[in-house]
Amino acid sequence: MSKDMISFDEILNEVNLYIHKEENLEIINRAYHFAEEKHREQFRKSGDPYIIHALHVGLILAKLRTGPFTIAAGLLHDVIEDCDVTEEEFEALFGNEILTLVKAVTKIGNLKFTDEKEYLAANHRKIFIAMAKDVRVILIKLVDRLHNMRTLQYMKPEKQKKIASETLDVYAPIAHRLGISEIKNELEDLCFQYLKPEKYYEIAKLVEMRKSERDEQVQSMIQDISQLLVKNNIPYRVFGRSKHLYSIYKKMVTKNKRFEEVLDLLAIRIVTDTDVSCYEILGHIHATYRPIPGRFKDYIAMPKMNMYQSLHTTIVADEGNIFEVQLRTEVMDAIAERGIAAHWFYKENSYHKEQQQREIEEQLHWFKDFTLMSEEISADATAFMDTLIKDIFEANVYVMSPKGRVINLPNGATPLDFAYRIHTEVGHQTIGALINGVLTPLNTTLKTGDVVTLKTNKNSGPSEDWLKIVKSSNAKNKIKAYFQKIELKQKEEGASKGKDMLEAEIKRRNLDVKEVMDHKKVDQIAHEFNLHTSLDVYYAIYSKSLNAQVVIEKLTNNKGVNLTHDNQEVIKMLSKHESPKKKTMSKHGLKVAGIDGMLIHLAPCCSPVYGDVVKGFITKGQGVKVHRGDCPNIERVVERLIDVEWEEDFHPTINYEVQLVIYSSDRNFLLSDIVTVVAQCKAGLQHVDSKVNDDGIHATTRMVVLVKELSHLQGLMTNLKKITSVKSVERVIL
Ligand code: MN
Repeated sequence: MSKDMISFDEILNEVNLYIHKEENLEIINRAYHFAEEKHREQFRKSGDPYIIHALHVGLILAKLRTGPFTIAAGLLHDVIEDCDVTEEEFEALFGNEILTLVKAVTKIGNLKFTDEKEYLAANHRKIFIAMAKDVRVILIKLVDRLHNMRTLQYMKPEKQKKIASETLDVYAPIAHRLGISEIKNELEDLCFQYLKPEKYYEIAKLVEMRKSERDEQVQSMIQDISQLLVKNNIPYRVFGRSKHLYSIYKKMVTKNKRFEEVLDLLAIRIVTDTDVSCYEILGHIHATYRPIPGRFKDYIAMPKMNMYQSLHTTIVADEGNIFEVQLRTEVMDAIAERGIAAHWFYKENSYHKEQQQREIEEQLHWFKDFTLMSEEISADATAFMDTLIKDIFEANVYVMSPKGRVINLPNGATPLDFAYRIHTEVGHQTIGALINGVLTPLNTTLKTGDVVTLKTNKNSGPSEDWLKIVKSSNAKNKIKAYFQKIELKQKEEGASKGKDMLEAEIKRRNLDVKEVMDHKKVDQIAHEFNLHTSLDVYYAIYSKSLNAQVVIEKLTNNKGVNLTHDNQEVIKMLSKHESPKKKTMSKHGLKVAGIDGMLIHLAPCCSPVYGDVVKGFITKGQGVKVHRGDCPNIERVVERLIDVEWEEDFHPTINYEVQLVIYSSDRNFLLSDIVTVVAQCKAGLQHVDSKVNDDGIHATTRMVVLVKELSHLQGLMTNLKKITSVKSVERVIL
């Protein structure tokens, strides 16, 4: 057994100093007994019973003066993960609040980064905080890590380095941000010891060698200051303080100083009752000793971001020794050591309902600083801040790229939102996504902590259905812009054809094209057709909504047709009359033999496409339902079957939905090959879902595609069959 032993009484002694309500003591007691029972027979690497770890976590939390729920959750923090305790059982015993705390602690502990080399500490910290949501969860996790760091010697050396560097990158900065310098300093020194052992022991030795001499100097200064303060009748506590080893090392490295230069400063702290006393003491000290110019800092008037408050000054004492002096009140001292934990403790004494809002704001303030700290300086800091506030309080999700880049997205966001946030082109070309290494449909809802890997294809483009899938306005706008661009392109192409049509008509009338078709003139007459530009006029001619002859009449000012009044009516009439007669087509391109205007819809079970052999079935009140000829679902009630056929003049567009199932053996990049073929065949992909069968060898891929007609579908299926390892491709009948 190690010297780490501890009993529950130690926690009780600490807790009794500040928790007095019976029910609060009771829950801590109960938490201990439950944890002790559940962890019995479990041991740490040190050989100690597991409960020792839980007790230390509880004790440190009590020393931080956290509340009873936090201490109970600390005692119980490993119970759900490591013991056979269900959430239901736990909640019945300890309630939802403690359960939520323990679950969040467990979740953060399980954060894994797929690519450790490339993970960025700043992102890791952000994810950590986003997932914690509650500051108490962070406190428990910090304390858990602190005790694990204290007992790191029982781990293998590689593991020691890994845990120590993660602690230094992620945990210590969070402790610093929360103002818990006690924990931050201890974590840093422990990490230092494992990451740079030679430096650590070198500095430790140097400090030790100078210790007695320095202690003497500090003691004599303490006596002088005590006399000064007693004489002036100011309450005080004064003591020397030692820098922690890592801060000495950091100063040596970052300020390029020798050990002696860093350690030359002796440090004294004076704690008193009020702000006013702080300034008063400062006055006496400056009157007695010579202050070094430029070293005075007033963090009482202007607290640091982590709520730290103190007066700092540097003075030269009688023998020429230089002292750093810190002055603060008891409350400031507690906040300087225990940060946010102390802050909340002191608040509880004067807790009012209306303070809740302020507390939230303070927490928010801290979140803002924290994230800004690790963000490259943003040009538009305010906008960034606004999004951040939204992110935190509107329950956004934080997901990561495989390289550790953290992307914040609105709740309900999908891999497509993620893709568009990475880059517009990446969004357009996305064909599939892996979430935490598992192939997942593009409409899957992302959760905080998910690692998203995108599959893209340069030849692929967005589908209009994506507008229904994406949640962020960013992605929506980009998809819309994509289609607007296509529309514009189509319009330009149409306009160019319309212009040709107009030219042809001018030539047919033996008129001079150059003379009649002046661009400016066309622009000028556009408004007479309720249009804006010549482009619109040409496009209108192309799309047959405007007749070329009417335009020529206008251009040549030939009033052969009376256009002076009621222009629009005449134009419309002419256009209608002279354009080739348009047949009214059903939207599916189907007609029922002998009957016009029947309501027709395609049966979803077998999803017929243009060109399939089909059969109609007269439904009650829903018109004719059209099945494929061989669909087993068609009800063979002879008197209700009706012949339907595809219209000949119909130009099918890509809008026949077909369900396909592909049987294959499983292999890497199977899905992306499948999706590539769909794109190459110019079919629309609405949904794809690939699963490895239970045998671990075969895969079944189900997809919904949009095709133009039967031959299009057949071409697609033939090409899908050609893919390596694909065994068969079938149309699904539900
Ligand atoms: Mn633990």
